[in-house]
Amino acid sequence: VAKTSGGNGLRFFEPEMQAAVAARSALENEIREALSAREFVLHYQSQVDRDGVVIGAEALVRWHHPRRGLVLPGDFIAVAEDSDLIVALGTQVLEMACVQLAAWRLREDRRTLELAVNVSARQFRRDDFAEQVQQILEATGADPSMLTLELTESLLQSRVEETIRKMHRLKAIGVRFSMDDFGTGYSSLSYLTQLPLDQVKVDKYFVGNIGRDPKIEMIVQTIIGMARNLEVELIAEGVETEAQLQFLQENGCLRYQGYLFSRPRPITEFDYRVGAASGLQVAHDAPGVL
Ligand code: C2E
Ligand code: MG
Ligand code: MG
Ligand code: MG
Repeated sequence: VAKTSGGNGLRFFEPEMQAAVAARSALENEIREALSAREFVLHYQSQVDRDGVVIGAEALVRWHHPRRGLVLPGDFIAVAEDSDLIVALGTQVLEMACVQLAAWRLREDRRTLELAVNVSARQFRRDDFAEQVQQILEATGADPSMLTLELTESLLQSRVEETIRKMHRLKAIGVRFSMDDFGTGYSSLSYLTQLPLDQVKVDKYFVGNIGRDPKIEMIVQTIIGMARNLEVELIAEGVETEAQLQFLQENGCLRYQGYLFSRPRPITEFDYRVGAASGLQVAHDAPGVL
């Protein structure tokens, strides 16, 4: 938040700006209350392999707001990230995800499912982050090797050594790492080779331009080749059309996430779709179904 020279607080702001600042701090308070009221829930979006078999899910936070209904992360994550609230929110998200992983672990037909969780830079940078992850894994009984932490390239903008060290500590606990939104951030390719990454996630911006922009198709091919050379797993997010899927398949990207397969769903719906008796075959969403 900018301050006018003299720094004498809000009375120097323009009225619109004052209103924006007030709205933001109201939202912060609401998020704080929502955290104690446990209004945040996870939705689960399938991740599938080349045969359409569900191999796991990404956990995506939603705010079950008492008046506004279901609020998406775009409306609150940035504000949470600008305050320390993202740390408490991130903790709740990790706890909920690990409780779910522990439940899957007890079921023959679910125990191979991996679960990916988004971790914001501010949360990752906390001194106690690695201990916290370990403690939540132990408390819930989740299998560390089924938990994927999704990081973004923003972590590579500064204090890279520290990031690499912490990632190695977490690798020792057994969790997996995925680089989310790959290609949209600041990654220096030289850093990338130093990170103990298990997976790279092709950003949906690139996927969305398959079939539209040959230059972007070339970038996708480059990312696929890079992942192969670095020997990291690759997954494409935001897959919406059969044509995109076909391009990715033909070019050697063999894991997918996107509306073509399923939207993020509450756990009961995700579970139902993964199917009880029939193995882990995915049910494609009917067109137009939200
Ligand atoms: P992300 O981690 O890149 O997650 C993918 C986003 O793309 C999700 O949006 C998902 O619903 C959406 N998506 C999935 N498939 C498709 C598709 O085929 N087409 C299109 N157009 N979109 C698709 P969502 O759930 O609104 O989340 C937005 C962002 O909020 C996430 O992007 C992530 O950066 C952040 N976020 C979500 N949950 C958490 C969380 O628990 N913690 C933190 N720190 N950030 C989170
Ligand atoms: Mg993600
Ligand atoms: Mg992403
Ligand atoms: Mg993201």
